[in-house]
Amino acid sequence: MLIAAELRNLIAPAQLAGLDVTWMGADAPTPKGEWLAIVPLLSRWVGGTELKHLPNLRIVANCAVGYNNIDLVAAEMRKIIVTNTPDVLTDATADLTWALILACARRLSEGIELVKSGLWAGWHPELLLGLELRGRTLGIVGAGRIGQAVGRRAVGFGMRIAYAARRPRPDFERDTGATRLEIKPLLKASDVVTLHVPSTPETKGLINSETLSLMKPGAILVNTARGDLVREEALVFALETGRLGAAGLDVYTDEPEILPRLKAAPRTVLLPHIGSATADTRREMARIAVANVRAVLDGQPPLTPVVP
Ligand code: NAP
Repeated sequence: MLIAAELRNLIAPAQLAGLDVTWMGADAPTPKGEWLAIVPLLSRWVGGTELKHLPNLRIVANCAVGYNNIDLVAAEMRKIIVTNTPDVLTDATADLTWALILACARRLSEGIELVKSGLWAGWHPELLLGLELRGRTLGIVGAGRIGQAVGRRAVGFGMRIAYAARRPRPDFERDTGATRLEIKPLLKASDVVTLHVPSTPETKGLINSETLSLMKPGAILVNTARGDLVREEALVFALETGRLGAAGLDVYTDEPEILPRLKAAPRTVLLPHIGSATADTRREMARIAVANVRAVLDGQPPLTPVVP
């Protein structure tokens, strides 16, 4: 099997016992050959060409819950199973989403810069005034595992919760008092909008100049899902003109490249795609990816097949 070399420290040798492993370097192209399984990172595109050059492949075990780096149609045509790593990263990613919400609402980046610059002149009643979250509305776009986990945390902060989803989530509504809205009314009603849909042809560019113009003046946008959900030029414009209150981002369209204008834009909190980055979660993600490989090579059903 082929495994991303970056996972080496996260996988105990016993987990790989009996498997013939070739480690793939981050910058190396996907090897061609007789391998039966591949465990890529989300940064590796696995498309028709790569699959064609792995003629014996039986499984792509993505080490992520998102799978927009894999051509599912090409995999299906070759009867290759695709798996992901759901659930184990839900809490870590929901926590990081809240880190961004709080950092934006309470202007943490500006505060940290002020202290480090040595320019802080002491307590002032109007220094870095932020947004009080209690009583405000959190708009969740995509109420799957992570979206709901973010919503459940919002109860503790006293926020009202709105969510946009293709189907209702009665348990979530009952537990949190959340209200289901169409996307446009949700954008109009929310003080904080947080994105939790996967990147698909339908969701790409969901946040653009038109949808940004629907948001409340001064609202906060948080994205820990995928970068291409947001048209970054439009986001930068909304920040530069003061239309948007703040943006907290963990993901970018062309990561690790980030638009220079986005890096320079005011009122941003920019993180390097660390949503699931806790030691426990990353170990679990690697464990599940390898367990999926083992199951499929043993002729068993995969533990966590991708269901598009
Ligand atoms: P999930 O449980 O599958 O949730 C995604 C939700 O999006 C589903 O409820 C789905 O609704 C909904 N959805 C899909 N297309 C939609 C559309 N067009 N309009 C409205 N809702 C739509 O996935 P998850 O585990 O919460 O993960 C969500 C995403 O977070 C992943 O795809 C990944 O890209 C991202 N992520 C990022 C990090 C990070 O490090 N920053 C970490 C983990 C995950 P239905 O139920 O109706 O299909």
